[in-house]
Amino acid sequence: MKILKPRYRPDTFFPLLAEAPARALLLDYDGTLAPFRLERDEAVPYPGVREALDALIEAGHTRTAVISGRATQDLLPLLGLRHTPETWGTHGWERLGADGRYRVASLPPAALEALEALVARLGKAGLEGRWERKPASVALHWRGLPEAAAGEMREEMVGFWEGLADRSRLALKPFDGGIELSVVGRDKGFAVRTILEELGSDAVVAYLGDDLTDEDAFAALGESGLSVLVRGELRETAADWWLEPPGELLNFLERWNAACGEAP
Ligand SMILES: [Mg+2]
Repeated sequence: MKILKPRYRPDTFFPLLAEAPARALLLDYDGTLAPFRLERDEAVPYPGVREALDALIEAGHTRTAVISGRATQDLLPLLGLRHTPETWGTHGWERLGADGRYRVASLPPAALEALEALVARLGKAGLEGRWERKPASVALHWRGLPEAAAGEMREEMVGFWEGLADRSRLALKPFDGGIELSVVGRDKGFAVRTILEELGSDAVVAYLGDDLTDEDAFAALGESGLSVLVRGELRETAADWWLEPPGELLNFLERWNAACGEAP
């Protein structure tokens, strides 16, 4: 583990967590809890992660939420936990509460029409299995492809976006292994801000993520919590700490659970 910003250190953070009146652990999925797989529907958590999260959720001491770019319905079977945690899908557009209540934010019709037009174009471009339609976005995945082929896919997406009459409703977002055209207005930072408002200012909160889209969440958390970059290689980030999965991730989850002890 590496401390990138000295604001929190393990010997100060975990005691603070132990004393906290409320706690939240916010987690990205792909690249953070689960290693990347060429077959995206086979990306299951690192060994030990399910057990650690099940223990955390069952102890009842921490509001646990998964905040992912995946659609919620694709994420939950992969996560495979005994109790479904609060889940934010499609970069904050979908929310499934721990109580089972599901909500999708309403989307501008013009943006939805544009996404459908993109789906039709990708279908014709012979990119089967490389694109994914989500409730508020279309993602192109080029993990495992040669650089030239990935470049062509990227150009296809950029060309489509530049051809839109009103580009303001949709934004291109790069992520690790692809690019996504998303409806503007929500991101992972939105999910974090919403949770922070619901928790109140005395809660101790951490967010763990690996990707560029997680930087929105780190920024939203700001001084209100601990931001943790989880990935094999360090990159420029706003996070406070850097953990290498799976060993340091599991250690973090175990320390969190141990610090909180029994449910208050
Ligand atoms: Mg990720």
